[in-house]
Amino acid sequence: MSVKVAVVTGSNKGIGFAIVRGLCKRFDGTVYLTSRNEERGKKAVADLNKEGLNPSYHQLDITDNKSIERFRDYIKSKYDGIDILVNNAAIAFSQTSTEPAAVQAEQTIFVNYFSLVSVCDILFPIVKNGGRVVNISSSLGHLSHIPSEDLRKRFIDPKLTVNELSALMQQYVDAAKQGTQEAEWGKSSYVVSKVGVTALTKIQHRVLSDRDIKVNAVHPGYVDTDMSNHQGPLTIDQGASAPLYIALDAPDSVKGEYVWFDSRIVNW
Ligand code: NDP
Repeated sequence: MSVKVAVVTGSNKGIGFAIVRGLCKRFDGTVYLTSRNEERGKKAVADLNKEGLNPSYHQLDITDNKSIERFRDYIKSKYDGIDILVNNAAIAFSQTSTEPAAVQAEQTIFVNYFSLVSVCDILFPIVKNGGRVVNISSSLGHLSHIPSEDLRKRFIDPKLTVNELSALMQQYVDAAKQGTQEAEWGKSSYVVSKVGVTALTKIQHRVLSDRDIKVNAVHPGYVDTDMSNHQGPLTIDQGASAPLYIALDAPDSVKGEYVWFDSRIVNW
């Protein structure tokens, strides 16, 4: 029988690290801890080894197509494909950042949205039929955070394509460069990026349903990590709980949903 494979992006620390920890304990297969920086990734593997857990490791920078392709080719050479893909890697500028809004918008949308699209473009062909994809979104990826009703309507259009969604994301970046984004899109590029991730999840669900691949977006809760400046009340293992539920335990009927940290399905 072929070996099952689970992959978590950006898993050298934070919630991704705890998702790998949980998968190592419960998933009947090989779990890939991946990181953009090899040294940080290998240190994380060594930390899990000390707990008696044995993830495999591969370098994966989601902003670098060559890195994603190298990872795809490596997995193809060793396995039949990927059973579980957790798109966890992301960035957030701190609320006190003095970087101009245009820079924050361009970088945040590039990493959190466009690079996630690249990962999916390159890795979806090797996700097995019947597989599960977990896109880590956020409560801030809720549509209500977008002020413009017209934009909200476009995001929820059931005919929206990935190309059209990407054009909308680019429209936001261009508006931020002109300094005209705030009235329609709000103040936070992180919000726009995560609304993009949630919208993308809905589209991917439609596109991949003929391959029986279940794609869901998850808000992991407010978690004590570097990203939250350690303000979140949840531990990383509590933050990993809903992603693990969606990856391992949720009934097959849960697909194309926006799922909260307590595993509740939330109206987007
Ligand atoms: P952390 O900042 O602790 O971890 C983020 C991880 O992503 C790190 O491993 C980081 O690697 C990695 N990463 C960043 N850029 C890249 C890249 N280009 N390629 C590969 N990996 C990359 O964040 P959290 O654990 O808090 O966040 C995990 C997910 O949960 C994110 O999607 C976040 O948006 C989401 N989330 C978090 C919440 C919270 O309260 N913490 C709330 C809601 C959602 P490196 O160490 O190299 O920087």
